[in-house]
Amino acid sequence: MVLGCLLGNSGNSGPNLVPKKSGPVTLLGDAAHPTTPNLGQGACMAIEDALVLAQCLTRKGEIQVRLRKYESLRFKRTEYITCESRRAGQIGQMEILWLWRSDQFG
Ligand SMILES: Cc1cc2nc3c(=O)[nH]c(=O)nc-3n(C[C@H](O)[C@H](O)[C@H](O)COP(=O)(O)OP(=O)(O)OC[C@H]3O[C@@H](n4cnc5c(N)ncnc54)[C@H](O)[C@@H]3O)c2cc1C
Repeated sequence: MVLGCLLGNSGNSGPNLVPKKSGPVTLLGDAAHPTTPNLGQGACMAIEDALVLAQCLTRKGEIQVRLRKYESLRFKRTEYITCESRRAGQIGQMEILWLWRSDQFG
C-alpha cells in the first residue's frame, strides 16, 4: 500500500509523524512519514529521525514524554519534505503529459 502511494503521487503519501497521545511506542523513517521518491529524501529523513530520537532518549525523565518530544521535534520538517516531494512529483507528471500531448498533435 505504501509503495502504491509513493509511486502514484496521490493526494496523501501516508501518515506523517503525528504526535501520539500515549504509549511507549513511536515510529521513524518510512513507517512514520512515507515520502514520494521525487526529492530523494526518504533515507535522509530516517537518519535524521534516528539522531533526534537518540538525543531524546539520552535525556532523563519519563520515556513517553521523551518519545512525544522526539515526535514533536520531527513533525514540522518531515511534513514539509513529504509535501514538497509530492508537489515535485505532481509537477513532473504535468510536464510528461504536456510533452506527450505535444508529440501527439505536432
Ligand atoms: C528506488 C528508490 C530510490 C530511493 N532513493 C533515495 C535517495 O536517493 N535518497 C534518499 O534519501 N532516499 C531514497 N529512497 C528512500 C529510502 O530508500 C527510504 O526512505 C529508506 O530506506 C527508509 O528507511 P527505513 O529504515 O524507514 O525503512 P526500510 O529501509 O524500508 O527498512 C525497513 C526494514 O524493516 C524490515 N521489515 C519489514 N517488516 C518487517 C517485520 N515484520 N519484521 C522484521 N523486519 C521487517 C524490512 O525488510 C526492511 O529491511 C529511495 C527509495 C526507493 C524505493
